[in-house]
Amino acid sequence: MKREIKKVLIANRGEIAVRIIRACQEMGIGTVAIYSDADRTSPHVLMADQAYRIGPAPSRESYLVTEKILEIATLSGADAIHPGYGFLSENASFASRVLEAGIEFIGPRPESIHTMGDKTEARKVVSAAGVPTVPGTADAVSDEKLVRDFAREFGYPILIKAAAGGGGKGMRVVSSESQLAAAFAGAQSEALSAFGDGRVYVEKYLERPRHIEFQILADKYGNTIHLGERECSIQRRHQKVVEETPSVIVDDDLRSRMGRMAVAAARACKYENAGTIECLVDKDRNFYFLEMNTRLQVEHPVTEMRTGIDIVHQQLRIAMGERLAFAQGDVQFRGHAIECRIYAEDPFNNFLPSTGTITHLKPSQGFGIREDRGVEQGGEISVYYDPMISKLVAHAQTRDDAILKLKRALHEYEILGVRVNIPFNLFVLDHPCFRSGEFDTHFVATHFRPELLRQASESDNTAAALVTAMLEDGRVHSTSTSNHNQNNSVSINGVGSKWKTRRLDYLR
Ligand code: ADP
Repeated sequence: MKREIKKVLIANRGEIAVRIIRACQEMGIGTVAIYSDADRTSPHVLMADQAYRIGPAPSRESYLVTEKILEIATLSGADAIHPGYGFLSENASFASRVLEAGIEFIGPRPESIHTMGDKTEARKVVSAAGVPTVPGTADAVSDEKLVRDFAREFGYPILIKAAAGGGGKGMRVVSSESQLAAAFAGAQSEALSAFGDGRVYVEKYLERPRHIEFQILADKYGNTIHLGERECSIQRRHQKVVEETPSVIVDDDLRSRMGRMAVAAARACKYENAGTIECLVDKDRNFYFLEMNTRLQVEHPVTEMRTGIDIVHQQLRIAMGERLAFAQGDVQFRGHAIECRIYAEDPFNNFLPSTGTITHLKPSQGFGIREDRGVEQGGEISVYYDPMISKLVAHAQTRDDAILKLKRALHEYEILGVRVNIPFNLFVLDHPCFRSGEFDTHFVATHFRPELLRQASESDNTAAALVTAMLEDGRVHSTSTSNHNQNNSVSINGVGSKWKTRRLDYLR
């Protein structure tokens, strides 16, 4: 079953394409990049051994066109395709087409993608393996009466979810019977337009859960292990922003119970390669399977930092038919790792994406800091793709030290030309509830108000990042706080003002 991989086509862009190219280079494997017209000079294109134009900027005409990707794979002589995350990474028919073309797909078998991509099917398969799921209907429901019956039995609130769901689409919380009819119709039509599949099912809506997920590695010979948990409860609009490992609520006992559950869930669909079992955990530490992501996750670096295991190397080795070189007991967990996603978005204005050219970029460095990024100074943040600029990860011996390190790195980060969420990230890291570990998936909705950022800007802690976010082409924007004067320079008093002055020098 061993199969050599000499050249990998990366069917993706941005930071994850760069991440995968690096892993291939480290293993002596050739790389082929694909790029849309918007990405002609992007880092992933410049780093790969070969690069091919795939089409115009919109992903429907470029990164999502299976035919073109397969054509380029054949033309370039690639013997494997890594799909990254997003785009075609969880598309079972893409994986099948790749295999049919005689090319290795770096990921699970199409059957596993198919099973886990249908939430009702996934729930059935893992339940049969003894994995607890959130109470819900076994099948999709097309009759409103069945939804009402479920709510009567389990009580409100309930959550109507798209069977083919992803990205929080087709999801509706229903708190009372009067909201049910509209929510049911709304979820169905949103699911139909987002996924071309209007099937919905119902779950009990867990109040104030935590989102905790387990990283899985499985080879082609049935060896399946986990690399511990990631705490991903800090989300805005159901999308993760700050992730860490370990979770403050997971002790050794819970980790081994959840880990066994995650391995059982992966085995239930005969999983191969790297994947993630997502769970909700309630206040009594009961855990429930939510879904499986059958691909590499954005937040995989925190696990790598804590275990020292390069997950992309492992993906490539597994795809080549190698056996996992270590067993569950060999995995060592060291220290604490936290990741902040740096997005081009405006935390003062409902996280509205911010597009434009990055006119200045000087990322943070130093002991224990890792940055994964797919764009350079002069690069463009366009409307076509996800506005994530970078992932900044800190690894230290303790959680407190990792927080301090990440805060330092966020302060050090210099970026101009687009608005960034750095002030928001600092807000999270500084919040007493984050510090104490008492938070859940409602953290942002409960605690975050843009006004608080403005107030915080007056304290020394977040001022630096705030200045970075508010200055564009050397000008102070109107969202600025009272601490700027008339000639477009910013004066902030207090300790640490030296580097702020330094930072502002180049703006004059
Ligand atoms: P998607 O695949 O659309 O991202 P998920 O099932 O992964 O949807 O859920 C995304 C987020 O929605 C979770 O992290 C959690 O915050 C919330 N969520 C999903 N199901 C429930 C539930 N039954 N109870 C409470 N919150 C939920």
